[in-house]
Formats: sequence, structure tokens, C-alpha cells
Amino acid sequence: MSDAAQSDAARSDAARSDAARSDAGQIYPLGLQVTGRLVVVVGGGPVAARRVRSLLDAGARVRVIAPHVVLGEQGIPVASETPDPVDGEPAPGTVQWVRREYRTGDLDGAWLAHTATGSAATDQQVADDAERARIFCVTAGDASVGSAWVPAVARTTLTDGAEVTVAVTAGRDPRRARAIRDAVAGQLQSGALPLRRQRARGGATPGRVWLVGGGPGDTGLLTARGRAVLAQADVVVVDRLGPRALLDELAPEVEVIDVGKTSGNHPVPQHEINALLVQHARAGRDVVRLKGGDPYVFGRGGEELAACRDAGVEVEVVPGVTSAVSVPAAVGIPVTHRGLARGFSVLTGHDGAATVPGGPDHTLVLLMGVTHLADTAAALITADRPADTPAAVVEDGYGPRQRVTVGTLATIAARAAEAGVKPPAIIVVGDVVRLSPAWPVP
Ligand code: SAH
Repeated sequence: MSDAAQSDAARSDAARSDAARSDAGQIYPLGLQVTGRLVVVVGGGPVAARRVRSLLDAGARVRVIAPHVVLGEQGIPVASETPDPVDGEPAPGTVQWVRREYRTGDLDGAWLAHTATGSAATDQQVADDAERARIFCVTAGDASVGSAWVPAVARTTLTDGAEVTVAVTAGRDPRRARAIRDAVAGQLQSGALPLRRQRARGGATPGRVWLVGGGPGDTGLLTARGRAVLAQADVVVVDRLGPRALLDELAPEVEVIDVGKTSGNHPVPQHEINALLVQHARAGRDVVRLKGGDPYVFGRGGEELAACRDAGVEVEVVPGVTSAVSVPAAVGIPVTHRGLARGFSVLTGHDGAATVPGGPDHTLVLLMGVTHLADTAAALITADRPADTPAAVVEDGYGPRQRVTVGTLATIAARAAEAGVKPPAIIVVGDVVRLSPAWPVP
């Protein structure tokens, strides 16, 4: 070709790529399988390094062309170094570094090109060469140069093993894309998105069970993991305590089974709850057993876990914020405090509280203790734990009826009766009660 013909050809190539760009219109989103395929990255700075890392994660053969690279500093090993790419292709999942400036021809054999050289002219050159060779090219500097865009990506694995990939582009504003991606990722983690499987499980695949600690009742005190599995459940088995407001957010198809225990009202017996969990999981449904507080703190979580295991049903425990620690905190009582309490015990109010050793510097937290409060308080008075040891009853922690009543072991039962204290409530005994704003100023 003569020089004139060559520059004509170059002009028409440039015109074609300009046309391709101005015609860009909507992008066509696509997921690429780059495993084992050659991808050429031009440039060796931090942006290039980020691209290299995700290409390696995807199993690509990566060739980096740059006089200098920061790959090593970023913990990315360079498998081979060569002055010229004709020396052979990098192995899948490894990096070959061509240590020099970019030259036309370096994209030969590539399925995809990335350019992030910091030089607009070089990036333009790479983009033009890629266009001619019909190789898609991502340009880091100016998104209008080049034929492909890297979206901001968030990935998560759902409870049934499904991989969700969210890829966001936002015009030519990658920061905005990342901000949107972060928001979506947060919602994926928090269970705010409808993650439930829509397609029935094939064949006889059983479902699974999650024993989820729901915290003391406030929806904000359920863990992110708890929320995420709740958002994927087919069946939710609930108690009276725990974050029941979350049930309103469930999709209408989710079956909610209330095994709640109310005073005087007969609860569903434990063996029937166990059987329900197993039966639904065996029918292929994912079951969340949403419990108050933590499943293992007077929650019979261990029994439910054993029942599932015995039946061969897969089960996971998602710990929760126990009321034993959080409900005292709701009224300003820390269960331990330097100089006041060096430890704490959690007991039920029904039995044996009086046998727990320790004085006012060992905090006692009693659950389910309202009915027998008078007997318990009397029994707790010992030589070590005098009658003037501070005590508090905290009702409905984090709920609309939250209230704290304070007194001493000698007076708390009468004060609670006067106030008409009702379950659910937590009783705290020990010097830490003095830290509550409700404690009378002496
Ligand atoms: N697994 C739960 C405890 C279940 S036993 C946990 O870790 O919190 C039920 C008892 O917990 C109730 O009788 C009461 O003593 C206490 N409780 C649970 N939630 C409460 C709340 N929001 N306010 C006060 N007490 C609560």
C-alpha cells in the first residue's frame, strides 16, 4: 500500500470507529467467559493492576504490556517476563509481562484488551488497533474511547449456593456506578432484596433449616446474616418474642407458622416444633426458625439442631443478640463494668438462682423470672449478697412498653408488684444497676 492509501485506510478505520462510538446508544450487557483466553492489558499502574487481578480471578491468560508495573507491590505475581509477546502465551490464570512500551501488533491473538496507560494518545492508539482487529477494548481514562466498559460488580452466594452477580454501569460515571453497586451490595447482605428462589427445587432435593437468633425484638438488632437468610426462606417458624415486625416484609407466598408462647395460652410443644422444621425441610423448603434473642440462650436451639441433624436435615445456627445482655443495656445497665462487676451469670428465674455464688460485684441476669420474683429475690439474699444489693426489672426491652423498675433485693418484689410488671422482662441484680439513669441519686 502507498503512504496515501495507508493514511486513507487509517482515516476510514478512524471514521468507522467514530461512527461505532457515536452510534453507541445503549450498551449491550454481557458476561464474558475469559477462562483460558488471552487478554492483553496495556499499562502497569494501579488501575491496570486492578483489572489484572479480576481477570486472573476469572482464570484469563493475562499479558501486561508496560515498561514499569506495580503488580508485585499489589501482591500480583508475574509468572514470566519477556521483551516480546511472540515468546508464547501466559498460562491460564497467570501474568506475562512484556517489559516495554506498547506497539501495534501487541493485541494479536487477544480476545479482549484493556488499556490504562495514563497517556491519552497511547490509549487511543490501543483502542484504534483493537477496533481494527475487532477486539473489544476497555479504556480506563476516557470511557468514550474504546468499545467496552467494565461495570462495578458485587457478588454474593445465596443460601442455596446460587451465585448472584450484580453489574452496574452509570453512563460514563464509574464512581456513580460504584456508589449504586455498594448500595445494592448492602441490600443483598441485609436481605432487603427478594432473594428467595423462584424456581422449585428439582427432584427430591431437601430444603435446609436456619436457626436464627432474632435479637430482643427491635428489627435493627437482627444480624445481617439473619436478615439475609430470612429473605430467602420459604417457611418461617416464629415465636412470640423476637423481631416480629419483619414478618410484614416477607413475600406473600412465604408460609409463617406461629408457635408463639403466650402466658396461659398453650404453646406448641417442642417436639412438634422440631417435627415441623424437619417436615418442611424434607418437602424441599428452606426453613427459618426465627427465635427471640440468641438460639442457644434458653432458646432450646440445641434441641432443634439435634432434631434436624438426627433427621439428616442440614441446619445452620445464626447467632443473635441475646436479651440477657441487650435488654439491661437498653436501660443503661452494662452487665460488666470496671470496678463494679467482674463477671455475670445468666439464669432462669425458675430454679436455683440462689445457689449462684458471688456478691454484688457479680451480676446476675434472670430470664423468665417475673412470676417468682418475690421468692427469688428473698432467696438471693445471702451473706455475700446483702439485702441492699441493687436490682432492676426491665420489661419489654426495645419494645413500645419498655420500662425499668429499680430497687434492692429487699424491695424489688414489692416495687415490681406496685408497678404491675409484666413479662417479658429481665431481672438484673448487682452493683451495675447503679449505673442506670433510673437508679435513684443517693
Ligand atoms: N433466647 C432468648 C431468651 C428466651 S427465654 C434470648 O437469648 O434472649 C425468654 C425470656 O427472655 C423472657 O421471659 C424474658 O425474660 C427474656 N426476654 C426476651 N426478650 C425480651 C425483651 N425484649 N425484653 C425483656 N425480656 C426479654
